[in-house]
Amino acid sequence: MSDPHSYARPRESRVTDVALDLRADFTRRVLEGRVKLTLVAAPDAREVVLDTRGLDIVTVEDAGGGRLAFALGPPDPVLGRALTIAVPPDRTTIVIAYRTSPLAEALQWLAPPQTAGGLHPYLFSQGQAILTRTWIPTQDSPGIRQTYTARIVVPAPLRAVMSAEALTPDGVEAASGRVFEFRLAEPIPPYLIALAVGDIAFRSVGPRSGVYAEPTVLDRAADEFADLEQMIDAAEALGGPYRWGRYDVLVMPPSFPFGGMENPRVTFATPTILAGDRSLTSLIAHELAHSWSGNLVTNATWRDFWLNEGFTTYFENRIMEQLYGRDRAAMLEHLGRTELLEELRSLRDKPADQVLCMDLTGRNPDDAVTPIAYDKGAAFVRTIEAAVGRPRFDVWLRGYFDRHAFTSLTTAEFLADLRAHLIAGDTELEARLQLAEWLEQPGLPSNAAVPASDAFTRVTTEVVRFLAGHQAPSLDTTAWTSQQWQHFLGGLPGRLSAVQLAELDAAFRFSESGNSEVLFAWLRIAVRLRYTPALSALERFLTSQGRRKFLKPLYEELMRTEWGKAEAKRIYEAARPMYHAVATATLDPIVSA
Ligand SMILES: [Zn+2]
Repeated sequence: MSDPHSYARPRESRVTDVALDLRADFTRRVLEGRVKLTLVAAPDAREVVLDTRGLDIVTVEDAGGGRLAFALGPPDPVLGRALTIAVPPDRTTIVIAYRTSPLAEALQWLAPPQTAGGLHPYLFSQGQAILTRTWIPTQDSPGIRQTYTARIVVPAPLRAVMSAEALTPDGVEAASGRVFEFRLAEPIPPYLIALAVGDIAFRSVGPRSGVYAEPTVLDRAADEFADLEQMIDAAEALGGPYRWGRYDVLVMPPSFPFGGMENPRVTFATPTILAGDRSLTSLIAHELAHSWSGNLVTNATWRDFWLNEGFTTYFENRIMEQLYGRDRAAMLEHLGRTELLEELRSLRDKPADQVLCMDLTGRNPDDAVTPIAYDKGAAFVRTIEAAVGRPRFDVWLRGYFDRHAFTSLTTAEFLADLRAHLIAGDTELEARLQLAEWLEQPGLPSNAAVPASDAFTRVTTEVVRFLAGHQAPSLDTTAWTSQQWQHFLGGLPGRLSAVQLAELDAAFRFSESGNSEVLFAWLRIAVRLRYTPALSALERFLTSQGRRKFLKPLYEELMRTEWGKAEAKRIYEAARPMYHAVATATLDPIVSA
């Protein structure tokens, strides 16, 4: 299967191991050093082709230090430049000396004020989807799995954390700085090679789990993630043994653009899930689930991205059900469906973008990071479960992970497995599943299950009472969960008076909410209805965190009116330096419109 987002020609020569030796220079904002690549070359192969973008290639040598001829191809704005190297005499080893650009898209260099602690700089990498090539010259395709080792030199007080086994957890002092060594023996897609450097402390929360965070955040983080070990147990009950050794969570500085990134052995997570009451930990269940769907069995190309995210969103919900019961899982499922329906509405003029197997040729694969891959994907998996019953489905799912462990799969290969091991010639079942419609058509197929939640029914009752004139303080909101509040806010109509909004805010203190999901849902309404008393809360939220899922809808909403446009531009100008390149790439076209 060829990957339209990589220049590599793996059938000729493919990279199997990456050995990094890099120094982090915070003054120049570059990583500098060498990478030793191990190859498997076909007998007639004469070249090895790597992916690069913005890298400064200094020399390319063979194992004995002899120079190898190399050439950089013309730059493509999305793909970068192919680096073509003559196959070395031993046909296995290439050593590249290089440095990254200060503008490398995968690397975010934070000044001390952009961190939680405010005293030390911070660096983190984000490889998914095709950004690893901006800091490592390798074959940057999810279908080309590689093991890796790393030796990372950082300035003395800082600590390096990677998505690998830490061989020197506290570092070793050297003349050049503090040296950290890592090794990952399991082959992974290169987008999962990840690095963070900063004033990072660690606390164990279970026999194989722990939390990394800046020291000022560590207590809150360790408390929020106290259930990690139970979560791993619940995930193993569904997916089989956890195969990566440890599972730690690194709480990132506020500018981290994603909710979480499922880097092996250590999930990178946004601090916006530190709600203080463990109410937003489904995000950790999601990242943990990727230890099976995504990291163990990986989408072979970005067209198959739904295999990573659809399965993981489904798996996440099963973990939440096991830990917190059917009610909580049903609420989360319901919220996912609401988000999906909203996305389908917003994509009504773009049917091709509603398709699970989305054609991304010539496009940035980041375009596929939408609720289609996540929630439509999960709805598809749930539909399969409902059609065959949970016991039979679970046996198939467990087998699917075992059969394809440490490999990368296309959608066609997934289908072949489903037909061989679950459908097994049952033509009536095959027809009932509507597989082609799910995978290749826009919209939502007619056999999609509709989730039901009693807890949400009670919320809807209170929304109706409020709209009928009952005062906000008289509503029955006893013991509502974060999900119920999200549903409440999502259920409010497009027209509310300023008096009604003020009444809600006074009764429930939404503008002051420490729960990022609830605050986000509230601010969206406030912007839509131009409720100016919430403006300072909006500005605080937009300038204190950089999670794209929150930023994009809020800026979009602001840009709908002349009043909002002025606010959006003013706030964006101040906040943009704090945001990650992944976020500004999405937001620049929105805010400049
Ligand atoms: Zn995910």
